[in-house]
Amino acid sequence: QIQRALRSLSIPLERLHIMKGHMMQDMCKGLSRQTHAQAKVRMLPTYICSTPNGTEKGNFLVVELCQSQVRTLLVTLDGDGNMSPHMVYKIFDLPEGITQGSGEALFDFIAQCVSQFLAETIHSDPSKSEERLPLGFVFPFTCRQTQLDKAELLSWSKGFNCNDVVGKDVVQLLQSAINKQELCHVDVVALLNDTVGTMMTCSTEGRACEVAMVADKGSNCCFMAEAYLVETTEETSGRMCVNTEWGCFGDDGTLNDIVTPYDECVDVESSNPGEKRFEKMVGTLYLGEIVRHALIALAAEKAIFTGTSVAVLKEKGVFTIQHIMEIINNEEGTSDVKRILEALGLEASERDCGRVQQICRAVVGRAATLHATGLAAILSYMCQTRDMETLMVNVGMEGELYKGYPRFEEILLSVSRLLSPECMATLLPSRDGSGRGAAMVTAVALRLAAQRREVNEVLAPLRLSRADLEKVQALMREEMERGLGKETNATASVRMLPTYVSHTPDGTERGDFLALDLGGTNFRVLVVRVSEDGINMASEIYVIPVAIMQGTGEALFDHIIDCIIDFQTKQNLVTHTLPLGFTFSFPCQQMGLDKALLLTWTKGFSASGCVGQDVVQLLRDAAQRKQHAGMQVIALVNDTVGTMMSCGYDDPKCEIGLIVGTGTNACYMEEMKNVGTVEGDQGRMCINMEWGAFGDNGCLDHLFTHFDKVVDESTINPGKQRFEKLISGMYLGEIVRQILVVMTQKQLLFQGKITPKLQTRNIFQTKFLSTIELSNGLALRQIRAILNELEIDASFEDSVLLREVCQTVSLRAAQLCAAGLAAVVEKMRENRGLDQLSVTVGVDGTLYKLHPCFSDNLQKTLKDLAPNCNVSFLLSEDGSGKGAALVAAVASRAADAME
Ligand code: ADP
Ligand code: MG
Repeated sequence: QIQRALRSLSIPLERLHIMKGHMMQDMCKGLSRQTHAQAKVRMLPTYICSTPNGTEKGNFLVVELCQSQVRTLLVTLDGDGNMSPHMVYKIFDLPEGITQGSGEALFDFIAQCVSQFLAETIHSDPSKSEERLPLGFVFPFTCRQTQLDKAELLSWSKGFNCNDVVGKDVVQLLQSAINKQELCHVDVVALLNDTVGTMMTCSTEGRACEVAMVADKGSNCCFMAEAYLVETTEETSGRMCVNTEWGCFGDDGTLNDIVTPYDECVDVESSNPGEKRFEKMVGTLYLGEIVRHALIALAAEKAIFTGTSVAVLKEKGVFTIQHIMEIINNEEGTSDVKRILEALGLEASERDCGRVQQICRAVVGRAATLHATGLAAILSYMCQTRDMETLMVNVGMEGELYKGYPRFEEILLSVSRLLSPECMATLLPSRDGSGRGAAMVTAVALRLAAQRREVNEVLAPLRLSRADLEKVQALMREEMERGLGKETNATASVRMLPTYVSHTPDGTERGDFLALDLGGTNFRVLVVRVSEDGINMASEIYVIPVAIMQGTGEALFDHIIDCIIDFQTKQNLVTHTLPLGFTFSFPCQQMGLDKALLLTWTKGFSASGCVGQDVVQLLRDAAQRKQHAGMQVIALVNDTVGTMMSCGYDDPKCEIGLIVGTGTNACYMEEMKNVGTVEGDQGRMCINMEWGAFGDNGCLDHLFTHFDKVVDESTINPGKQRFEKLISGMYLGEIVRQILVVMTQKQLLFQGKITPKLQTRNIFQTKFLSTIELSNGLALRQIRAILNELEIDASFEDSVLLREVCQTVSLRAAQLCAAGLAAVVEKMRENRGLDQLSVTVGVDGTLYKLHPCFSDNLQKTLKDLAPNCNVSFLLSEDGSGKGAALVAAVASRAADAME
């Protein structure tokens, strides 16, 4: 019988694995917005989002409500790593009956304790009386917390039952009671329970502690969870300490196959049958009861205490945790066991003593094993949600089971290691209880609040209000009008260049076309076949040697013709004369669809004899020189126009082209009657806005921040392309880097350490913004990887702040782009006299395509700024190849129609 009893109290490893799985499921359930109300493991948010970093400084008051005492504590931190905080404390006994009386009396008593404590300590140190004194309140009951200093009591426990407190904000109750004591300089800043206090206590002395376990009368655990997983709060960045409240684990039956008949008896006799099933197997309040019921059962089976009366075991609570500890901690002989049992009134034989000892060890050992299983669930959960292969973590420990049972630590470590081999926990004993932790929470809260104010100050100029954006929209509109006007064009910062493209595709275009793409990352020659079945393309990339880029114009265009001949030969297209569209991504003054004067070379080109010349003619001349008759240049196009045309083939409503890549630019279909720079009033023409230069006349100066000015000054064209420099891929990374430098100087980041790499221009690439903003808790590792490349050693909080900086910069870019577009679509709507305009924007550019939030932010802002326009976005595929061919196709179609 005794063996059977012992077996029922020992849980096989595979069963523990299953239980760990259940615990993890329940944790997820407790965190999920949909299921948390039904969850047994409550997973309560604590609004504690950071652990101490050692820079905390000042005086902090703590008041802790305990089982039968109120403890007050004054902690002085020197900002020296919290190595040796100075602490003064005083303990007050709770008056008889107060735990069952009125809530007001309880809180008045607590406030009196604070008042008396301060009177005594301030007496010895008058300097502390003037300053404001932040207070942390340790309140070890289940609360629904909605802020660090706002917590509604859900239910009393541990024998407390005061009136008029459940459902109320206990922080408010304490603050009012304190105000009544005329301690107006004391601010209740934080509320926390003892588990969280333990975690924070153990976080001192330079070690981060992200888990705490209290194995005491009850049992509980807390840990730092990824904030975005805590769906019951609005907080989404960083981490937040979650109070698991795991005592109710198993209340839905998940523990049924491991509970013993002894556990059932304990539960039935308790004041809350069916509830807190896990706690009733592991809490020291219950372990004595489990042993008592096991002994009763064994005595009934005549396996123990044969021939003596066991009537004394009938009495609830006779067997306490202290008895158990004494019994099991007695390794030598059984004489002490005999003495303890005799004191209880039990006649025990030598054999009885041995068996009682075995039962006690089994019950306490099981409690430790179950704690280990819960811990393993938490560790694995943390490891998984942080996307780590292995997790090393410190676990703060407190409670009489942990302190009184020497094997607890060993069992906790070995069992959790078996269940979560990927995790490595180090146990840290809590030295000063939860009080010191409460001081740390309070100190951290104040540090974070101060830091937040400074961060906001740095980022404020980059955050645009709706009014700012409306102003940008209005200014863009003004500049557009100026650019279109014959007289005003010369002074407009937005050039509004005519493109002589007057139709978008209608899908009836047919034929084979050649296209050239010069001025992007690669020089390409393409053949584009437009048929009923859609568009087919083949292309080849050709190299333009630097000697040719920077040689004579003749050599450059000869080379281009050579490439075309090579391509047509390879594609078996030599016998045809194909119409050709030329994407030429350099600024041109266009005089006709096939006539465009080069205004200036950019991007490393400097071929002589080209500026001021008609680029199409230069290409035709070269063809003549090479006697190549296989092509006929029909059109020269800008890449925005190509983008609009290529999307226009799939969507006839596409009448806007947008590029957000290395640079930014847009084009759209304008009414000819509005285009003052071109003769004629009929129909429409696509206008290449060249909006990157918006603001070059100073009209956006009010928006430029210190960071933008520094970035602008370091470019090859200071003062030029000002709008582009707020938006496009070439600059966003550098803006972020400038902010990081300033924040580091202000000690807000990277512990104030600026590495030489961080000071290197353009080292922070725009694609980093995409990676960083994409990462939720899961991919913070990738942020670390990026920072490691910059030789920066970043804390978790640094990563979170870095992400905020990136978000701020990319959001502003998207919003400005939207303000520009809003001006465009609103103008189109007015042009056409419509209440509502439906239009599609064809978009190209890697920043738009790959950044995780840019397009969403752009579209959301546009909807807001231009509510009467229904704007869709279509991604362009190879706009510069396909688009140029389509311009040629549309032109030939129009020419055919004329004939
Ligand atoms: P271009 O504008 O020269 O035709 P792209 O459209 O490919 O070329 O844009 C290149 C720009 O996109 C680069 O300047 C770079 O800053 C940016 N970029 C590259 N990768 C990413 C990314 N993953 N996320 C955001 N921006 C990126
Ligand atoms: Mg491009």
